[in-house]
Amino acid sequence: MRKVIVYKFGGASVKDAKAIKNLSNILFNRLRNHMVVVISAIGKTTNALEEVLMKKYQGLPYSLNNTILMQRHLEICDELFEPGHRIFSVVKNYFLVLERDLERPLTKENYDQYYDQIIGYGEMLSTRIIQEYLCDQEQYCLWQDAREIIKTDENFRLANVDWNLTKKKCEKYLLPKLDKFPVVTQGFIGGGSSGKMTTLGREGSDYSAAIIAASLKAKSVVIWKDVPGVLNADPKRFEKTVKFDRLDYYEAAEMTYYGASVIHPKTIKPLANAKIPLEVKSFLNPEESGTVIGDFKESQGIPTIVVKDEQILVTFKVTDFAFINEGHIHQVYTELQRLKLKVNLLQTSAITISICIDRQIFKLEQLMDEMKRFFVIRYNEGLQLITVNNYKEEIKNSILMEKEVLVEQTTRNTFQLICKP
Ligand code: ASP
Ligand code: MG
Repeated sequence: MRKVIVYKFGGASVKDAKAIKNLSNILFNRLRNHMVVVISAIGKTTNALEEVLMKKYQGLPYSLNNTILMQRHLEICDELFEPGHRIFSVVKNYFLVLERDLERPLTKENYDQYYDQIIGYGEMLSTRIIQEYLCDQEQYCLWQDAREIIKTDENFRLANVDWNLTKKKCEKYLLPKLDKFPVVTQGFIGGGSSGKMTTLGREGSDYSAAIIAASLKAKSVVIWKDVPGVLNADPKRFEKTVKFDRLDYYEAAEMTYYGASVIHPKTIKPLANAKIPLEVKSFLNPEESGTVIGDFKESQGIPTIVVKDEQILVTFKVTDFAFINEGHIHQVYTELQRLKLKVNLLQTSAITISICIDRQIFKLEQLMDEMKRFFVIRYNEGLQLITVNNYKEEIKNSILMEKEVLVEQTTRNTFQLICKP
């Protein structure tokens, strides 16, 4: 049996030339046939491309942003390659095509589709650069266009995977390559039914790794991060954190659902179904053991705290004197589904439905436009959603003391609140 291993490196792990050299060091003793290396865009490239799109949409000049982005990629190449290396023209060429692609008109109506055709340049560039660099270090590997193997529908910006087709394509394109060399491919992007580029949602490269692993029945997936593993809270926000050595799929899935940014929320399910273990390890201390997520069927009962920023609390109030019923909830949820919006928290009262959603371009106004016929709508932006699982009273109280709370919800295991940051 082939034992495919999938590694995933995110933007932070390839943010500059030094980081890419570190990636190459990590791979030095580990790279082997039947390894797929999934890579995100370099550093904050995706954000920078989003900014270009926003400028373009607002009719502002964006060429300078592209030039800066190209310069950043070329500077990284300067540190990694000999002058005159062919990678320089490859990078410049990508930016020329990008400029050309951006000449097409961008409207509110075609925004999602347009976004997906532009945003994937980040991953194209990073994987080209890194594959060339690895080969220069005699770490020979092949490059695979992820659009050929990750097949999706054309629900742009949040494409759904066509699992059967993806499996077939992975077997057809990846396996023959993997029999000879390791393969470098892009996270985040896929190929739609009409051949257009699609994306799996922001930070979706983890999910890409899981899709490939599940499609090839891989032995394991390793996600390389700037943290030592999965922690019970974000170390950038909390002083004292605990690292999990082992974590059950179920608990990991729950944490990501509530917004733990360590792993993309869709990653766990395909791995859990195929019983493929997922390891989260530090690219800064690669020899140290990280966290293994697997079928452990146990919870250690450690409290986990997840903070999600940029939340919007929307309250729908019935206009007549009816009470809230299933029909109203259905009405709201149908519209949310159409807009591809996920509810992070729901609370109902006699005459209102309140939901907490992520901030996303155009979405709030579209939601209001549609629903104002049925409800009086009020909203607050720029909020924080804090979720504590396995909470203890003292954690709950200390959070409540510090925050200006708008909504609070407690169940047996979970405590959630929406507050001002
Ligand atoms: N580059 C994409 C993003 O920043 C995908 C990823 O990093 O996983 O969202
Ligand atoms: Mg990223």
